[in-house]
Amino acid sequence: MSELREAFFEQVGEVLIIFDKELRFVDVNQNFLKTINLKREEIIGKHITQVSPGIEDTPRYQLYLNVIQTGEPVFLDETRTHPSLGNFVSRINVFKVGEGIGMAIQDITDLKEAVDELETFIYKSSHDLRSPISTILGLANLAISDINRDTTDFYFKMVKKKAEELDFILNQLMETASIRKDEKTVHLIDFNEIINEVKNSLAHMNGFKEVRFEEHIDVDQRFYSDKRLLKSILQNLLDNAIKYKHDHADAFVKIIVSTNDGGIKIEVADNGIGIIENLQENIFNMFFRATEKAKGAGLGLYTVKYAVRKLGGRITLNSKQNEGTVFTVYLPNEKIHKC
Ligand code: ADP
Repeated sequence: MSELREAFFEQVGEVLIIFDKELRFVDVNQNFLKTINLKREEIIGKHITQVSPGIEDTPRYQLYLNVIQTGEPVFLDETRTHPSLGNFVSRINVFKVGEGIGMAIQDITDLKEAVDELETFIYKSSHDLRSPISTILGLANLAISDINRDTTDFYFKMVKKKAEELDFILNQLMETASIRKDEKTVHLIDFNEIINEVKNSLAHMNGFKEVRFEEHIDVDQRFYSDKRLLKSILQNLLDNAIKYKHDHADAFVKIIVSTNDGGIKIEVADNGIGIIENLQENIFNMFFRATEKAKGAGLGLYTVKYAVRKLGGRITLNSKQNEGTVFTVYLPNEKIHKC
């Protein structure tokens, strides 16, 4: 029996706990012990309130007692916030086991995030994508019904502009979808080459010529990563640094690449308009724009988030309104990882 228990309890992905009818720990698996950093013998026989002080005042505690009394299983989702790692969402299944209860806790952070994004997408697409279409339809109707032919040219120019806006949003969405879906491929990275390619592709932007670019590349090892993802990250960060530059003279964008903890660190710093502090936590969300002056679809940083995640890295933001913004991307070296 204990071999079977071991095979089941210790191989499932969930955290498993069994309580007696007084809510004392009867059994737990290693996944649970890892989350609280305690040894098995330190926990078995303890009351739940000794391990989670204050739980007796929460609706969750009442819910556990209800399951013990009624035998009716329940599940609840719980969100915990880690100061630097963000939100974690757990789905807790509670069911009767003997006279007590069993609990299976599953990490559904990714699932929750995907559902939230799908909801945002459905909501936003009915606004952002429909608005240019409605304008196009309105203008087309005006052009058809207009007897004064001189204005037709104006209507068609507007139709073109709106259709281009829509095309831009749909292209960005396609880029994001392919970044999430496509297989990662590993190349030896030449940072000078990538930065030049990105700068060339942005050279047509308004304001590009007024920006002073500075690059410092100091990488003392061969660095391997997915070139397309890395390019997309730099493209979106530089695009923003140019779009959100200050009107004052001497606008700069600094790109600093250095070796960091076996991988690399890329800093993209500007002295632009900056981001209001209380909006910074939303900056990587789908369709999010932090300013009225936003000139894009609000998908750039969302794409960056997924590209960084796919490369196994992380990104941080440091920004001050009216002073500037620094995005720092930390990426592992794919070759070293594989050895
Ligand atoms: P957008 O397509 O609107 O630029 P992003 O996802 O790239 O969307 O960025 C989200 C928002 O974050 C932008 O609308 C802008 O308000 C803010 N932002 C991003 N980068 C910068 C930056 N370097 N300086 C100031 N604001 C920025």
